[in-house]
Amino acid sequence: MQQASSTQKKTQIVIVGGGAAGLELARKLGARYGRKHHDIILVDRNRTHIWKPLLHEVAAGSLDASLDEVGYRSHCRRWGYRYLYGSLDGIDRTARRVHIAPVLDPKGREIVGAHSVRYDYLVLAYGSVTNDFGTPGVAENCLFLDSRTQADSFRDQLLDHCLRVSRAMTEDPQSDARVRIAIVGGGATGVELAAELYNAADGLSYYGLEVFDRNRLDVTLLEAGPRILPALPDRLAGAAHEELEVLGVKVMAGTSVTAATATGMETGNAGFVPADLMIWAAGVKAARIPLGLDGLELSRGDQIIVRPTLQSANDDRVFAIGDCASCTLPGRERPVPPRAQAAHQMADTAFHNLVRLQEGKPLRDFVYRDHGSLVSLSRFSTVGSLMGKLVGGRMAVEGRLARFVYLSLYRMHLLAVHGWLRGAALITVSHINRIVRPRLKLH
Ligand SMILES: Cc1cc2nc3c(=O)[nH]c(=O)nc-3n(C[C@H](O)[C@H](O)[C@H](O)COP(=O)(O)OP(=O)(O)OC[C@H]3O[C@@H](n4cnc5c(N)ncnc54)[C@H](O)[C@@H]3O)c2cc1C
Repeated sequence: MQQASSTQKKTQIVIVGGGAAGLELARKLGARYGRKHHDIILVDRNRTHIWKPLLHEVAAGSLDASLDEVGYRSHCRRWGYRYLYGSLDGIDRTARRVHIAPVLDPKGREIVGAHSVRYDYLVLAYGSVTNDFGTPGVAENCLFLDSRTQADSFRDQLLDHCLRVSRAMTEDPQSDARVRIAIVGGGATGVELAAELYNAADGLSYYGLEVFDRNRLDVTLLEAGPRILPALPDRLAGAAHEELEVLGVKVMAGTSVTAATATGMETGNAGFVPADLMIWAAGVKAARIPLGLDGLELSRGDQIIVRPTLQSANDDRVFAIGDCASCTLPGRERPVPPRAQAAHQMADTAFHNLVRLQEGKPLRDFVYRDHGSLVSLSRFSTVGSLMGKLVGGRMAVEGRLARFVYLSLYRMHLLAVHGWLRGAALITVSHINRIVRPRLKLH
């Protein structure tokens, strides 16, 4: 294996994964240290970053990902870190090297060979993947929402099905053709996608598929638990359930999927649910790294177990943040949940702790502040609960206030990734885009 040349004098901090956690950390470290005495290196298997909570909008076509994604090359130039295009293959903790798999083009030709990169400190931030819990047929027949490519693929298939139905209706106005979509998982992702599909259906009739309307969508939301949105209080989950049913979604709580086939979902207790498109959004796990993590302690879900300082359980030089980290704080029974706000807060603690390490100061413990959960039912409604001192504990929110706070989460991410000036400019541009650009991405 070829070893990448490196300037041995510089302190090298390698971050693997430029998502909600890793990109923010790379920006902060790059801005703090520049490239004089430090080399901050971000490794990602993609060339661009898109904030994952936007993926259901990309899948429904209501958001054009090209407008919201961040190109790593231009971002790293602006913020003083280096970007390496490649996928983590494994690590060698003794030699302190990160192994990167060969990068291949779509035809399988090698672009960059396998190589390794030296680190003084390593931050693993490679996120999570959807967990199908080994359910038969899911990997072959269902789509996931783990990446932009998958969201784009769902959108293209959705548009094809809508076009097919529209065509059938034009040829035979009595046709009962429909687009049948089954979504597994009644958490925020499944619920948000279900509602977003109705927003998209309204848009399609506006953009030339005149005969198509939302009544032609058959969306079924399957949830194994007794109700949808387990993270929200009963009343809010009930309100979201009602809103979905008003839109036309068939909500099947208490229904566990036992297998997926090419034509639909087998369930344990509610028969067969036929579907043209199936999406699995029922839980996450950390991805397996092909050559392993050289003995780093892992949880049952393959997450890297970290101490409150966010250093891995058995290596002071390796940190893990975001969805791939399992962090159970003192006095808590459950680990910090895999959420965007946790990723953001962990990036901040990791930044301060890496700086403190350079300065020879003791590290600080991570403190997770749960600011609540918000679920957007597209333009139809937003529900959730806010937490914190400002609202006196926990406060249920709905409507405009909830929508405003929900949108603020993405704005905060933009500010964290681009800095205040550029972030504010991008927020303004995205407002203008929402007015002047088509309501749907149709290609
Ligand atoms: C559809 C959807 C909706 C969501 N909605 C919400 C929400 O409303 N609110 C909320 O709080 N959370 C939400 N989440 C969860 C939230 O997006 C994650 O918790 C958050 O993105 C985790 O950040 P991360 O940096 O750990 O991982 P990610 O943001 O997933 O970033 C991981 C990065 O690592 C890269 N990577 C992965 N493997 C490798 C490898 N082997 N080598 C190199 N690079 C690699 C990826 O390309 C990616 O850039 C949602 C998630 C999804 C999928």
